[in-house]
Amino acid sequence: METREPEVIRDKEAMRRWSRSMRSQGKTIGLVPTMGFLHDGHLSLVRQSLTLSDVTVVSIYVNPGQFSPTEDLSTYPSDFSGDLAKLAAVSSSGSVIVVFNPKNLYDYDGVRNEKTNSGGGSGGGKVVSCVEEGGLGHETWVRVERLEKGLCGKSRPVFFRGVATIVTKLFNIVEPDVAMFGKKDYQQWRLIKRMVRDLDFGIEIVGSDIAREKDGLAMSSRNVHLSAEERQRALSISRSLAMAKDSAQQGQTSCKELKDMIISEIVGAAGRIDYVEIVDQETLEGVEQIESGVVICVAAWFGTVRLIDNIEINVAV
Ligand code: AMP
Repeated sequence: METREPEVIRDKEAMRRWSRSMRSQGKTIGLVPTMGFLHDGHLSLVRQSLTLSDVTVVSIYVNPGQFSPTEDLSTYPSDFSGDLAKLAAVSSSGSVIVVFNPKNLYDYDGVRNEKTNSGGGSGGGKVVSCVEEGGLGHETWVRVERLEKGLCGKSRPVFFRGVATIVTKLFNIVEPDVAMFGKKDYQQWRLIKRMVRDLDFGIEIVGSDIAREKDGLAMSSRNVHLSAEERQRALSISRSLAMAKDSAQQGQTSCKELKDMIISEIVGAAGRIDYVEIVDQETLEGVEQIESGVVICVAAWFGTVRLIDNIEINVAV
């Protein structure tokens, strides 16, 4: 089958013009926000978007607003030409995929301003991302105040503020009808759904199941940084989540027991736990007994790579 590389748009005004011209032709627009280095998880979101909308915009942008200066922004993997080839292979005849690949969405007319380290943290604490460090003068942030706090928010205090802000910017530029998010980043998906509800964005948010490698490892752009040995040990995450789900389905309802099982499996594989939590699927609040739908969320380090994964347990009540 003949494949054609997608058109690439780098300018935000051009992106908005393209979207509006599609809209004026009566076409619906799907958006798949990504940071590139695409894998099958991303591509499953693209495929889903192609079935739900007439045209699909895949944004490829590594967002400095969600990285703190001590995190891995500078080493985040990229392969832009590889990404285009993968997207070309996904698009079948007649499907339209456009790539939005802006250079810097926080650079306003090239004007460099003072650093804005005033922060936005609650309690007066500084919350500084690579955007403030870059001194570009951006100072407007979107915060989903409760959902941003737990799970990944504990060890990554700027992360969800950066995600909510960049997704808002992308929504304003692309003006999509529907946007795809992976449940691999469960907290992110829930937080974006809440933001869209609370701020009345007219956009449908679709959550897509986790794509895994054959051996169970959740696909992630960061997996490329794992050594072969670390990758093998990292399988303890998905293995322990599956074991815990199994055990819950056999009647184990104590979250402490289930969490201990996961922790011992990951620590046994020399992983360093960031968190293991069992939370309500909607509120993301911790639960002690499984009585309704929960999700078990894990973040753990193998070497220098921080991996996240989760598994939903749906209980009939
Ligand atoms: P990222 O490029 O890591 O920011 O991810 C872009 C989108 O792809 C997010 O909505 C992620 O949740 C989603 N995604 C990443 N990995 C997976 C995966 N293994 N399965 C499903 N969706 C994923």
